[in-house]
Amino acid sequence: MSLNIYNSLTRTKEAFKPIHEGWVGMYVCGPTVYSDVHIGNIRTFVNFDVVYRYLLAKGYKVRYVRNITDVGHLEGDLDIGGEDKISKKARLEKLEPMEIVQRYSNGFQHKMEMFNTLPPSIEPRATQHIIEQIEMVQEILDNGYAYEVNGSVYFDTKKFSEAHNVYGKLSGRKIEELLSETRDDLKKQDEKRNPTDFAIWIKADPTHLMRWPSPWSIGFPGWHLECSVMSTKYLGQTFDIHGGGTDLKFPHHENEIAQNMGACGCAPAKIWMHANMLLMNGRKMSKSDGNHITPDQLFTGDSPHISKAYTPMILRFFMLQAHYRSTLDLTDQALQAAEKGYKRLMEAYENVNQLSTNQRRVETDLKKEITEGIAAVWEEMDDDFNAPKTLARLFELATRINALKDGHLPMADVDQETVGMLQEVFKKFVEEVFGLRQEDAAGAADDTLDRVMQLVIDIRAQARANKDWPTSDLIRDQLAEAHIQLKDGKEGTSWSKS
Ligand code: AMP
Ligand code: ZN
Repeated sequence: MSLNIYNSLTRTKEAFKPIHEGWVGMYVCGPTVYSDVHIGNIRTFVNFDVVYRYLLAKGYKVRYVRNITDVGHLEGDLDIGGEDKISKKARLEKLEPMEIVQRYSNGFQHKMEMFNTLPPSIEPRATQHIIEQIEMVQEILDNGYAYEVNGSVYFDTKKFSEAHNVYGKLSGRKIEELLSETRDDLKKQDEKRNPTDFAIWIKADPTHLMRWPSPWSIGFPGWHLECSVMSTKYLGQTFDIHGGGTDLKFPHHENEIAQNMGACGCAPAKIWMHANMLLMNGRKMSKSDGNHITPDQLFTGDSPHISKAYTPMILRFFMLQAHYRSTLDLTDQALQAAEKGYKRLMEAYENVNQLSTNQRRVETDLKKEITEGIAAVWEEMDDDFNAPKTLARLFELATRINALKDGHLPMADVDQETVGMLQEVFKKFVEEVFGLRQEDAAGAADDTLDRVMQLVIDIRAQARANKDWPTSDLIRDQLAEAHIQLKDGKEGTSWSKS
């Protein structure tokens, strides 16, 4: 089975072939930490979490780099004239910019844990890589694709386009049209040679809080530059996958490609993946126009957009129901449906772990159907990470699992191998790839069974210490009947479901 990935750059699905066999380098643009994340941001990171998890499930060794933007992201779409988002927040709240960064980075990590997304292998911050950013600005200047005006350095998109016919390729824009756009609202328009040029080093005005010395001025790097620099540093000049939300295609990713090519003459990523937007009631979820919901509002139900509280895993399941390249509309009704779906899937996961048989080998139609169904689960995910279709395949298997458990299908039609394969595919996809876990009604990971098992293990240890062998044996035998195995080791007794 081979993985196919839709490449935004070529607009086709391509067979995935990593640069170094067995290894994958993946870079995803992370958050700008100047405010709390909303559910829209979370969708993008959950989507790439599933990509990361699936690559791991397929046996790749993955270096997953997701940055934290803590400098250079200016207000509004303009890359000059606007105020740095973090500096502005720090000024308004009379705090150090790094206090703002720490507060919202902590909040972001906490939310990522709640939604059970795996931490990336490296989470670099832009302010930790100022030296490397200055070096890349110098390389671009040396290659003639940038120019300095009054202490700021701009990327020369016209000159770059004349040398490399790639500017606009990713976002499908034509450089001639972009160049003819004039914008009166650019404060420093007069410094730029062409309207599409963008700042890669910005001279700090006297009130600007975050500033570093450079050969051109005391200033700070442009937002696009950090991703070019940090992806190169940790993944090499050309790496396998670059991801982000569709809203980052232009100008952020287009400019990243230009910078990398301008510096080293090579394209950064082989595959560009873009995750589509989360909508709410049909409109893009976004903070600026109030059409958004925070994770906390979702967990408490305290929002005019929803009728009740929903847990993190319900939201995660909800997100898995749409392909990452499609938009997804968050409505109360859709969340209620996701709640039902999530419960059904987790029930089937519990049921599959309770199936057991002594049959060594059978050849039946049911076994054949189940084997084919399991292969289909992998095939759907191999088709550009099609999570909704993969879920649908799991539900087809779930119907059979539930029927076997309830006696509507004969257990005699399956053997140990089939039951083992079913248990494995559910563990692989529900837990490892989709990152879904059991949680209690309040959304906390459900550790009730762990606690009860610890109590049972303690009682058995006490019985053994008292040489009360009948009680100790009774506990072990009864647990075995419930498919729970105890294992006595040096570190004490552990348990597992068989
Ligand atoms: P920001 O912190 O604004 O740089 O955004 C962080 C990430 O969230 C980016 O990759 C955006 O593409 C993504 N994002 C912002 N709004 C949405 C949305 N409504 N749906 C999905 N992703 C979003
Ligand atoms: Zn980026």
